[in-house]
Amino acid sequence: MYNVTIIGSGCAGLTAAIYAARADLKPLVLDGHEPGGQLSLTTHVENFPGFPDGIMGPELIENMRKQAAKFGTEFRSGSVSEVDLSKRPFKITAGKEVYETQALIVAAGASARLLGLPGEKELIGRGVSTCATCDGYFFRTKPIAVVGGGDSAMEEANFLTRHASKVYVIHRRDEFRASKIMIDRAKANPKVEFVTPYVVEQILAPEGLVNGLRLRHVNSGEHKELSIDGMFVAIGHDPNSVLFRGKLHMDENGYLIADHGSLSNIPGVFIAGDVQDHRYRQAVTAAGSGCMAALDAEKFLAEHKD
Ligand code: NAP
Repeated sequence: MYNVTIIGSGCAGLTAAIYAARADLKPLVLDGHEPGGQLSLTTHVENFPGFPDGIMGPELIENMRKQAAKFGTEFRSGSVSEVDLSKRPFKITAGKEVYETQALIVAAGASARLLGLPGEKELIGRGVSTCATCDGYFFRTKPIAVVGGGDSAMEEANFLTRHASKVYVIHRRDEFRASKIMIDRAKANPKVEFVTPYVVEQILAPEGLVNGLRLRHVNSGEHKELSIDGMFVAIGHDPNSVLFRGKLHMDENGYLIADHGSLSNIPGVFIAGDVQDHRYRQAVTAAGSGCMAALDAEKFLAEHKD
């Protein structure tokens, strides 16, 4: 029986763990299917306060993990397959284990979106990727494409020029959602070429490996083909909230709804990080909400010592 179980080991989950562990609650963190969350898939983080020269995402998350472990957090790997929130203690199933917990913090984050094209999922690992830092190295001296117009797309495009011979940024509009500093950096990079306003209509992989993309001009409808060896999809994320459907309140896009900080519709269940945030989605806001969830859980446990 645990006092607090935290689902998710990204920035929100680990911050919640640091706070809960320092309150002597001996929290359990269930890693989930993407341990470390999105920070572990990113490169240089320049806007997390306290690091004037920036810090690599994986290093930042590893530091948080060490900090949580130092104060007595227990970590278990494995994806959660079921949650029973009908009464306390709540029951969490992950792999063959069932964990009982007096309070639960849901910090399950959000996962990368795909374009939804035929063959796209099957081609992951065969030229389609959602993680530049994980897969960029496989495309040394090859031309590749990044799809998207947000900060992730700009960041990935810049990062991928370290490996690739050429990086096309394919975006469906001529305007970008990305911040000016990120766009300027990508535009100043001689290896980056913008292809707008275009959408990917087909992934070309005649022999089971990506070798090109068929694109459609959004306004004229004209088609063209691009010879590339890899396509990195950077078009945002979806919240990992499927497990909580019908149990916790969520909006029409599946983002969990947190009230007054981290409170869910079930007493004893608290929500933090990107699984409830489609607006800010920053490492520092995720950390802040993890802190709030842990403080709320601590208060709840103090008031429900039954
Ligand atoms: P985002 O800001 O939501 O941008 C997603 C991009 O993908 C948009 O340009 C969108 O186009 C495009 N898109 C969405 N669905 C598409 C589809 N089906 N087909 C083609 N294009 C599609 O997501 P993000 O770039 O992942 O960023 C998420 C958050 O993290 C943001 O708050 C961002 O500032 C932050 N972030 C910050 C940094 C940093 O500061 N270092 C780095 C990465 C991310 P439209 O614009 O046309 O909708």
